[in-house]
Amino acid sequence: MLFVPEDVFDLCLDRAKKLMGSAKYNSWLSNASFRSFSDGVFTIGLDSKIRANFVSHNYKDNLEELLREASGDPDISVVFTHLPETLSLGKVSNSSRHELFSNYLKPGYVFDRFIQGPNNRLAFATAYSVACEMGRSSSNPLFIYGGVGLGKTHLIQAIAHRIKTNQPDKTFCYISSEEFLTMFLRAMIPNKNNFIDMEKFKDKFRNSHYLIMDDVQFLSNKETTQDLFFHLFNDLYLRGRQIIVTSDRPPHELEPLTERLISRFQSGMVVDIKPPMLETRLAILNQKLSDENINLDGDVVFYLAETVKSNVRQLEGAVNLLAANIRIQNFVPTIDNVRSLITEYLGSSSRRLNPSSITSVVGEFFGVNPNTLKGKKRKREILIPRQVSMFLLRDLTSLSLEEIGDYFDRDHSTVLNAIKRVNAMISEDPFFNRKIIDIKESLLG
Ligand code: ADP
Ligand code: MG
Repeated sequence: MLFVPEDVFDLCLDRAKKLMGSAKYNSWLSNASFRSFSDGVFTIGLDSKIRANFVSHNYKDNLEELLREASGDPDISVVFTHLPETLSLGKVSNSSRHELFSNYLKPGYVFDRFIQGPNNRLAFATAYSVACEMGRSSSNPLFIYGGVGLGKTHLIQAIAHRIKTNQPDKTFCYISSEEFLTMFLRAMIPNKNNFIDMEKFKDKFRNSHYLIMDDVQFLSNKETTQDLFFHLFNDLYLRGRQIIVTSDRPPHELEPLTERLISRFQSGMVVDIKPPMLETRLAILNQKLSDENINLDGDVVFYLAETVKSNVRQLEGAVNLLAANIRIQNFVPTIDNVRSLITEYLGSSSRRLNPSSITSVVGEFFGVNPNTLKGKKRKREILIPRQVSMFLLRDLTSLSLEEIGDYFDRDHSTVLNAIKRVNAMISEDPFFNRKIIDIKESLLG
């Protein structure tokens, strides 16, 4: 959750008032109150059954739309209640200060379910000790880095879970740097959609005992965000609060980040996670297979552990695929069957990030035919998704500017411009930024 539900609700009412006019608004919505927000559903209280029914009939769609717009979450829905507050359903508001942002925590990402091996033992031990005792100078800040799918997010969410259960008096803020950026940009926008007050935004961080930020490499290149982050970071640090960050590379390679931020990261504990060795992959595999209730012959398990080795996420993907096949298609997991399934799986996951798949996903997101992206049209509807495709090809594949240009039949300077343009739009427009994140997730997912 990237927003404070109460604030989004207030903003939505403000806008409803403008759109409906005061007279109508006063008759129907002036006493509407925020009751709760849970699983994407806002519960709105009204003072009588008649009012609740009327509003539900006549304004539900509009309110939903306003809430979606204000929160940036397209899946928001609304229910109405006329029951007094103490009786209203879904009273459990999840916006308590303690759990701010913690909705993003995955239930299974706990220490107990994190398999240790030589590749991650130090990261695990440090994360665990930090979760039990905050702010010890030798491990503050804690900087965890490693390649994709190796368990960084799992580990730092485990810290958050642990704080929730074992140190309920401590507050934490768990956020990815991309979300931080989106929030920051939203707080900066004057008037329209400005439901996050900059001071409130900062307070949320200042009041945390733990600041846990995932994928800090995305702060790169955004100087104002880095500045704000640095100050928040310093302020927390000086007050003995614990900071934990992850990144896909070590501090000294976070080049576009300012020197002072990098040296701050280096001043605490820096630990890495490496790809797991065979033994650890076997242990992880056995855990996932037992989660899925799948029994496999030893040689099949061994084959999987030996073959699927680039990262743990890929290993999980293989188990999920196997589970789906066994359940849906009466697939018998003999070594031969599993081998052909996995061969295809490994082929397709490396095939997914290429020019034609990226343009087709981008096309889908922007509602344009992917073939037109390769064409000559310069209309804005086509131009932007084309530039986004170039940007993502550069970001997600190892293709050079020239190679990307070749695919679109353009030269490398056009690609470079496209990348600059997209970077600028990302910094200027939080909704655009969100869209890019969604596209990336769908490509990498
Ligand atoms: P990263 O953030 O480094 O890209 P994630 O934390 O998202 O990686 O891990 C990818 C998946 O692999 C997650 O579902 C996670 O639970 C699982 N995973 C990674 N490492 C381990 C481990 N050591 N034990 C159990 N599961 C793991
Ligand atoms: Mg991660």
